[in-house]
Amino acid sequence: MKVAFFSTKNYDKQHFNAYLSQTNHKIDYFEDYLSHHTINLCEGHEAVCIFVNDKLSRDIIEKLPEKGIKVIALRCAGFNNVDLEAARDHGLIVVRVPAYSPEAVAEHTVALILTLNRKTHKAYNRVRENNFSIEGLTGINLYGKKVGVIGTGAIGRAFCRIMMGFGCEVLAFDPYENEEVKQMGVKYLSKKDLMAKSDIISLHCPLTPDTHHLINEETIQWMKKGVKLINTSRGALIDTKSVIHGLKNGHIGFLGIDVYEQEEKLFFKDLSEIVIQDDVIMRLMTFPNVLITGHQAFLTEEALREITKITLDNLTDFEEGKPLKNEVKAE
Ligand code: NAD
Repeated sequence: MKVAFFSTKNYDKQHFNAYLSQTNHKIDYFEDYLSHHTINLCEGHEAVCIFVNDKLSRDIIEKLPEKGIKVIALRCAGFNNVDLEAARDHGLIVVRVPAYSPEAVAEHTVALILTLNRKTHKAYNRVRENNFSIEGLTGINLYGKKVGVIGTGAIGRAFCRIMMGFGCEVLAFDPYENEEVKQMGVKYLSKKDLMAKSDIISLHCPLTPDTHHLINEETIQWMKKGVKLINTSRGALIDTKSVIHGLKNGHIGFLGIDVYEQEEKLFFKDLSEIVIQDDVIMRLMTFPNVLITGHQAFLTEEALREITKITLDNLTDFEEGKPLKNEVKAE
């Protein structure tokens, strides 16, 4: 199957090329997003392979069949960037990689917490300048703290396991409670109770109309003063302006994010020579207690190998008319 591969990075090419010989697929790699400007690149292909920031709105999707596209293969878990109803209306199949390495994302979440809490990012810079002062680097013990996990799917569960290992009291909210999570000793609460009781809150639910701006002016008020917030899921779970307000008045103790609501204009690019026009992220970056990474939580060798294998196997299953276990459809 001929695949038009968008938003290509070197690590994608390396992993996909390594697995390609075990398949009948042929890939043309493009660095750009799939958009109105690049849609003609789909010509002569049967599949598009896209990532988290390729926005497939109805106006893009409706043009794909005339280019020959039959299937949209997401090389990620989240599918909020694809209009599934439009895909259905135009007879396009959508497949994804539901779980490739939940531990990769869970471990990065822990890295954000540990860095912000023990300020290793500041210590690193100080020591490199021969400044061995430890003033201002005080953290808290994680042992015994209450950690609230919103969304106990594959990543949330992996995160719960790690935090239980730290000796934290882990609380969870999910509309579908999970037995394995309960057996770990995690306690399910209502969203409001979780927010009121947790010292640290970590988001692991998908972005849906229900979860859009889950963290907002009102819900921040439910939280403890000094609450520590982490988001490695999707940017729009957080209303960034409300969080900035909470950081300014000290209600939020620290913020660690790997995702940002307007990230498609910024992330995965080297903008070091450009004047950034997004004043919201620029304000966020001025806080000493905010740590931002550019959507790298998934980025481990193990995860990339799994993403590659599952994406290409999804396409093989489609080509061979086999059942598509990783298909996503409009409800
Ligand atoms: P999953 O489908 O296994 O789990 C999602 C969980 O969220 C489910 O248990 C579901 O019941 C729950 N949920 C749904 N609606 C909810 C709500 N309103 N409130 C609370 N919980 C709700 O997904 P996953 O593999 O654990 O991934 C979770 C999210 O992580 C993905 O949707 C994606 O957005 C994000 N993600 C980020 C990265 C990254 O690199 N930063 C990588 C992979 C996934």
